[in-house]
Amino acid sequence: QDYRVFNFCAGPSTLPLPVLKQARDEFFNYKGTGMSVMELSHRSKVFDEIIETAESNLRTLLSIPSNYRILFFQGGGMGQFAATYLNLQASKYAHEKRAKLGKELVCDYLVTGSWSEGAVKECKRLGGNANLVIDTKDSKYSHIPDKSTWKLSPPEETAYVYYCDNETIHGVEFDPDAVTSIVDPSVPIICDISSNILSRPIDISKFGVLVAGAQKNMGPAGATLVIVRDDLLERPQDVVPKAVSQLPTVFDYALFAKAKSLLNTPSTYTIYMCGLVYKWVIDQGGVEGMQRLREKRSGILYDVIDKYPDFYHGFVAKQNRSSMNPVFTLPNEELSAQFLKESQELGMVQMKGHRSLGGIRPSLYNALPVEAVEHLVKFMEEFYQKHK
Ligand code: PMP
Repeated sequence: QDYRVFNFCAGPSTLPLPVLKQARDEFFNYKGTGMSVMELSHRSKVFDEIIETAESNLRTLLSIPSNYRILFFQGGGMGQFAATYLNLQASKYAHEKRAKLGKELVCDYLVTGSWSEGAVKECKRLGGNANLVIDTKDSKYSHIPDKSTWKLSPPEETAYVYYCDNETIHGVEFDPDAVTSIVDPSVPIICDISSNILSRPIDISKFGVLVAGAQKNMGPAGATLVIVRDDLLERPQDVVPKAVSQLPTVFDYALFAKAKSLLNTPSTYTIYMCGLVYKWVIDQGGVEGMQRLREKRSGILYDVIDKYPDFYHGFVAKQNRSSMNPVFTLPNEELSAQFLKESQELGMVQMKGHRSLGGIRPSLYNALPVEAVEHLVKFMEEFYQKHK
């Protein structure tokens, strides 16, 4: 009954077995209510306790300072491409800066893969004045250029600097302080941390906004976490900035903060599951514990890629390789198909590279047992010997 495959999916992804078991045990009758969490009102005391506990555990895990709000939205990570732009444009901070400058502010984007590319497209679609600090599309998003080449806008003209900490499709990941160490502290940094949240410590106080879809390291799909600094929630008193009229109510950070995420019906079950995962991460030694495992998993995998570089071609620059979503190709697509078929027969599934890239992408999220990677590298050794 507890049959489980090794699930390398990039998201929705594998969840910790103890979490699934607890959810199963609480499924029909959550804490004596005689109901599943799915059947509880989001206005009930029981649900209040679920969301408050989830938030306080997350606050502990990431040492989130008291001047930051924790919010849960729907609309996915993609919804936040628009929400981040519009909320920042609508803020008192941007309003005052615009007034001082006498023109529109620039939105700085670091484009290092499909997800940051999606974010900048959305900003432009909404009329934003976007500047590409870096854009590595021409080199197929295979590296992060040296900081000396970054074209950051002057701080007094910049609304924010946006980047994606880990590009889930292209397998490129920033060092934890790569961006925060170079951006002027007066400029809010927006970080899409969807696919590496809770995998290592992060200094939240260096950011304006962090966003993360639940469906990689936190829980099932359906909720999007936003961590936002209080001062960015303020709006100008007498004027309504243009961005407010474009901002859908369900993406309004200020309204959500006031309503403690319960402005409308949130994805209650996903939030409950995220809460169970937060508790599980705490029990595993917190983000430091997760970091140890993350280094172990990715270390084992990159070792075998580096051992046979002509066969397993990891095309991302070594210093920018993702520990969450390693990507590599085989000498041809027939071999890739064979690799996927044979590994699947051995219980290792959902490793197919993104449709835009091909190749193989075994995602190594928090809940993936190290044993899964040990199986995978053993298979990779054998596959190499057979097909080299
Ligand atoms: N950002 C990143 C880094 C992602 O990996 C994804 C989805 N895989 C998104 C944003 C978009 O999230 P969603 O599919 O929830 O809209």
